[in-house]
Amino acid sequence: MKQRINHIINEGRLKRLSKHLRRVNAWYTTCRQLSDAELQAKTGEFRQRLQQGASLSELLPEAYAVAREASWRVLGMYPKDVQVLGAIVMHEGNIPEMQTGEGKTLTATMPLYLHGLTGKGAYLITTNDYLARRDCEEMTPLFEWLGLSIALGFVDEPDYEYEPGEKKAIYAHDIIYTTNGRLGFDYLIDHLADGQEGKFLPKLYYGLIDEIDSIVLDAAQTPLVISGAPRLQSNLFDITKNFVETLEPETHFEIKEKEKAIWLTPAGIAAANAYFGVDNMYDVPHFDLVRNINLSLRAHYLFEANFDYFIYDGEVVLIDRVTGRMMPGTKLQSGLHQAIEAKEGVEISQDMSAMASITFQNLFRQFTMFAGMSGTSKLGEKEFLDLYSKVVVQIPTDKPIIREDYPDLVFTDVDAKNEAIIERVCALYEMQRPVLLITRTAEMAEYFSMQFFERDIPNNLLIAQNVAKEAQMIAEAGQLRAVTVATSMAGRGTDIKLADGVKELGGLAVIVSEHMENSRVDRQLRGRAGRQGDPGSSQIYISLEDYVVQRWGKSKLLDKVQLERISSQGLHESRLFQQRVKHIVTRAQRVSEEQGIAIREMANEYEKSLSAQRDIIYAERDRVLEQWDIDKMALRQLAREVFQRAYHTQSLNTEAKVRDYIYQHISFQFKGHFDEIDLNDERSVVEQLVSLFEQRLIAQQQFINEPYMYMRFIQKAILKAIDSNWIQQVDRLQQLRGSINNRQNGQRNAIFEYHRVALASFESMRDAVKVDIVNNLCQSVPSFDKRGDLVVHFPN
Ligand code: ADP
Ligand code: MG
Repeated sequence: MKQRINHIINEGRLKRLSKHLRRVNAWYTTCRQLSDAELQAKTGEFRQRLQQGASLSELLPEAYAVAREASWRVLGMYPKDVQVLGAIVMHEGNIPEMQTGEGKTLTATMPLYLHGLTGKGAYLITTNDYLARRDCEEMTPLFEWLGLSIALGFVDEPDYEYEPGEKKAIYAHDIIYTTNGRLGFDYLIDHLADGQEGKFLPKLYYGLIDEIDSIVLDAAQTPLVISGAPRLQSNLFDITKNFVETLEPETHFEIKEKEKAIWLTPAGIAAANAYFGVDNMYDVPHFDLVRNINLSLRAHYLFEANFDYFIYDGEVVLIDRVTGRMMPGTKLQSGLHQAIEAKEGVEISQDMSAMASITFQNLFRQFTMFAGMSGTSKLGEKEFLDLYSKVVVQIPTDKPIIREDYPDLVFTDVDAKNEAIIERVCALYEMQRPVLLITRTAEMAEYFSMQFFERDIPNNLLIAQNVAKEAQMIAEAGQLRAVTVATSMAGRGTDIKLADGVKELGGLAVIVSEHMENSRVDRQLRGRAGRQGDPGSSQIYISLEDYVVQRWGKSKLLDKVQLERISSQGLHESRLFQQRVKHIVTRAQRVSEEQGIAIREMANEYEKSLSAQRDIIYAERDRVLEQWDIDKMALRQLAREVFQRAYHTQSLNTEAKVRDYIYQHISFQFKGHFDEIDLNDERSVVEQLVSLFEQRLIAQQQFINEPYMYMRFIQKAILKAIDSNWIQQVDRLQQLRGSINNRQNGQRNAIFEYHRVALASFESMRDAVKVDIVNNLCQSVPSFDKRGDLVVHFPN
């Protein structure tokens, strides 16, 4: 029923789109008859019409027709109707689902061309450097022919050091191909610049995200973080570990596994108070203790060795949940990594503070408009709708899909399953039919590869190490007698073309050795066969010992003794048993999917405060960087506000206190007296301080003696105050997030509590910024380096 409704809705959407398609097609003859020069001149004409007020939607039919004709003349490919449909969906800021091999790279050129005409920057964002570079190189001739400038968004060399101005020049192109990681870091770095000359990123205008479900849903669980200085190390990790190990589940703490949430019960809180000898652990001075207890609880009960991480060479190494690959060098944030190290009794590593961070979900929100494309976006539609109000339109394939997706083959244990897989691959190899065997982990891929070599079957092993080499290898997977063993992510985005004679054998056979964490990934894998109407097949093998079942399955059948009884009686061959196994596996996968969604929801919820605050701070920074009129900065009012607050909070009503305040905040050299001031009158004291403040500024101005440099000095002083406080705030919010979720003792809602504390700390941060601005303006020492550039030495 639900599927039927979906189908009807999709048909409705397609019907509307096909009207637009007809308008594009109507331009076909006109464009075909134009000479090359006339066709190329269209770009200038479109730009002119834009300037005269035409909208992009008005230009779309003709512009798409021009891009289409140009791609035929330059690349020898004429975008098909289904590709134009996808391109229209992306202009509207939505997400077309287009199967693997349908030509999404070429489809993207149409909306990129249209939006590139504005000169504001149109981005194609993909998952890795290799794909960005490949697609950029392939499409460069087309865009250049059409008169648009295009660039790769980064220099593809390890640890490349950019010259001043180099990035700015890159981002000035009409069209930029880049990756989510590169763009994200540049976005953060750009907002750490302390002067206009350090800024390089224009306002993000139009973004197209390739494989959007991979980037936004699969890979986005951990935010991008720029780490700064080492954080003062807590010495509580070991003590809280010992405490947490004395606790009893349910009595002392409760777990919500799906949300990855864990918190102490009242009995647990009482135990903590007793163990650490405090009256109430939630009192403010014990903030760090609460945080550490919470980290320990999570490390102990929500993170499992060999599922979430390995201990390798005395270190905790994280495991990528989708690929099962180890991720050396990647660390969990804000002390969680250290808590796991304490749990495992390995040496505790240094925790770095976060200087700036953003999730991919929010990065994309920075675009004026963005859209995405993918072969498997439909299964993520609800999330795209919730997150971004974007709909997914399923675009029909150009030719019907004739791939056979066989029902799962069922086994009780992994050994029997692997045996069957090996047999099947051998049989296919005998027939000369190409096979792509996909495993979840690199270890399994290596195992199968070895087994095949032992049976004299040459094979290619791809375990997500070198993307460029893998792309080359996977492109070969459609050759006669080719056996390719790969992990799920290896060689993604690369088209597998079939060699002559392979179609007759049934095309590429995809074999998947177990269900992945979510069904979207399963579908991506099946889609490796049967591209563009080719024959092909896909088959998933399952057993009760598979990862998803072990991790998320709950059933009596999983009991070893039960299973042995069943197989000794030969029952495991029965249809009934097989149905039950299938059911268990499917359910385990569903639990895993739901858990993924719940975690992302949580992360988004937490990110809301940070992102709202970041928007304010970044806007404030931009305002300072663009402001060249000192009067508009209203420094005097700002100082007055600071002094008024100080008068009350620090009771500036004795000569000694006022004098002290002046030394600390305005001038070390103050020698004046207070004869004419009424110390009990706030106004009188504050006005005196304001006047001293202004004298200091005049002194600074006279010393610098150059209007432009003086303005730069003021900018730097303000930005320094904003940045040093904001960096602390980012880190504080990260830590807060760690401490808050075990306050969830019944009546309090953790997220609400988090937002409340986050807001309060933001308010006090803004006050602190103002205090620092006054300090920086009054007490910094400006000087000039050899080249005559301004260098400012800030107090503390
Ligand atoms: P996807 O990203 O959708 O899986 P690709 O963009 O990698 O697919 O394209 C698959 C293959 O189809 C590429 O070799 C590409 O050059 C080719 N292709 C795409 N569109 C066309 C077209 N309109 N005419 C001919 N070949 C095309
Ligand atoms: Mg692609």
